[in-house]
Amino acid sequence: MENIFAVLPTPTAESRPFWEACNRGELLLQKCDGCGHVFYYPRQMCPQCGKREPGWITSTGRGIVYSYSHIAVSFYGAQWESQIPYTVILVDLDEGPRMLSRLIGDDRERAKIGDRLEVNFVEVGKQKLPFFRIAAVK
Ligand SMILES: [Zn+2]
Repeated sequence: MENIFAVLPTPTAESRPFWEACNRGELLLQKCDGCGHVFYYPRQMCPQCGKREPGWITSTGRGIVYSYSHIAVSFYGAQWESQIPYTVILVDLDEGPRMLSRLIGDDRERAKIGDRLEVNFVEVGKQKLPFFRIAAVK
């Protein structure tokens, strides 16, 4: 995909492992070793039980469309105008967490709630970002 603009992350101590894994083509999620809760985005403690220093698991990178929005108007200036039209999605990952991302691919405007998705890492600057495509196999 060409000409992708995105606001790049500023990794923190909590999120650095996530972003480094994206650059290796892996989608990491945190998993609490106290209660087993799997969650996204990266945090210092489990949002369910409060246990500190959660571990990491590698996601399959698969999930379904929970919701989406096709963006046709930019309110944020020329860099975003160059991206129109694009599609923002909420993905329910197979491991449980819901993740905000961007849907890419020529078929993205046919997306329906419940469609199977797969992660697709897109390099912007020096960071690979976890975007999604409609999965070839449903
Ligand atoms: Zn927990």
